[in-house]
Amino acid sequence: MRLLKLLIILIQLGAARTQSGKFWHISDLHFDPNYTVSEDPFKVCPSAGNQQVPNAGPWGDYLCDSPWILINSSIYAMKAFEPAPDFILWTGDDTPHVPNENLSEKAVLDIVELLTNLIREVFPDTKVYAAMGNHDFHPKSQLPAGSHNIYNQIAELWRPWLSNESVALFKEGAFYSEKLPGPSSGRIVVLNTNLYYSNNKQTEGMADPARQFQWLDEVLTNASRAGEKVYIIGHVPPGFFEKTQHKAWFREAFNAEYLKVVHKHHKVIAGQFFGHQHTDSFRMFYNDAGVPISVMFLTPGVTPWKTTLTGVINGANNPGIRLFEYDRATLSLKDMMTYYVNLSQANAQGTPKWQLEYRVTEAYRVPDAGVQSMHQALDRIASDQEVLQRYYVYNSVSYDLLDCREVCRTEQVCAMREVAFAAYESCLRSPAAKPASGFALLLAALLGLCTVQAR
Ligand SMILES: [Zn+2]
Ligand SMILES: [Zn+2]
Repeated sequence: MRLLKLLIILIQLGAARTQSGKFWHISDLHFDPNYTVSEDPFKVCPSAGNQQVPNAGPWGDYLCDSPWILINSSIYAMKAFEPAPDFILWTGDDTPHVPNENLSEKAVLDIVELLTNLIREVFPDTKVYAAMGNHDFHPKSQLPAGSHNIYNQIAELWRPWLSNESVALFKEGAFYSEKLPGPSSGRIVVLNTNLYYSNNKQTEGMADPARQFQWLDEVLTNASRAGEKVYIIGHVPPGFFEKTQHKAWFREAFNAEYLKVVHKHHKVIAGQFFGHQHTDSFRMFYNDAGVPISVMFLTPGVTPWKTTLTGVINGANNPGIRLFEYDRATLSLKDMMTYYVNLSQANAQGTPKWQLEYRVTEAYRVPDAGVQSMHQALDRIASDQEVLQRYYVYNSVSYDLLDCREVCRTEQVCAMREVAFAAYESCLRSPAAKPASGFALLLAALLGLCTVQAR
């Protein structure tokens, strides 16, 4: 009898080993509670600031944050495409882009609660790993390196998804780590990278706010000892924004510190998942010899809101949601599917038609969504105009269909290839980042100008 039991357990373990599972990653829902389909172009949404919003439709507008029906529709679209994911990653930013004066601690918490309830209602039995965004705080981006009422309240809202230990830790700095559900030896680390955001005055001058880096190093060291693989998630990503130049999100010292962590622990980090930019992109991490060691996926936002960031031209996007296929035993990433809705079409037709935008394996002709494959994908994007153009359309979730040429290519490729400050700047200056005419490259190499390694 005992032998039979043992056999059954072994068979189950074997099945888990070979089985692949799925998980969702959503981010930047940015609910605008005051969105209304008004004929007065100044009265559609506070999130458009003083811009006029002509011909607004019921499903939202590219100048505005999300109306409730768009958010509702995105969560139900997840349910329709994959109703039984192993878990959901939710990387924050729930409130509208409006001045602090138009929000309050209570208004922010109310919105976080509304979205939390919606996700729990649609996925009652699914574990959700949620990270706070810089807009989930009041005043925005000023998340402190220690306990705070907002951390307490949000920890309580998310208690159904968290262990008691995580709730306690969350209250001290809004980060935590949990073992993934099921028989896998996987772990999730949810970071509060808002502590590293250059707009956060609370943490300016600190070496290790909330001692999160020290904690992260310990968690990853223990994971390595325990034979676990880890997914790291957070809101504000390290590195640079690909739709302009010189725009980093982290303060420089924090960026360097984050890179150190990845360099030291890349063997246990099976994937990194971030949001905040609202664009669809990814970041490669290389060791000193130029070997790819890690990849970070940046998921598009649900909000279509056109960014007002200086230097960005036409920075809106279609609403997107993202599904990963992964190996439950090793956490290796097998594929990534982005689903989206064409917002102008939804408004014209009266109903949103959510559909698959692309599969990463098909789009870049790679075997999976692992480090080596994404390195290959980046090589293709950097060297083949057709692949670059395809990537560029996905970058805005099929919103911006213009050509991506010299400057655009340099900005995109350098941001994806170089997360470190100095390496990024030198990439921008390097002829290697520019469209490679063989002659220009040869000339640059001869002149000793080619400072970026061809990796
Ligand atoms: Zn956002
Ligand atoms: Zn953000």
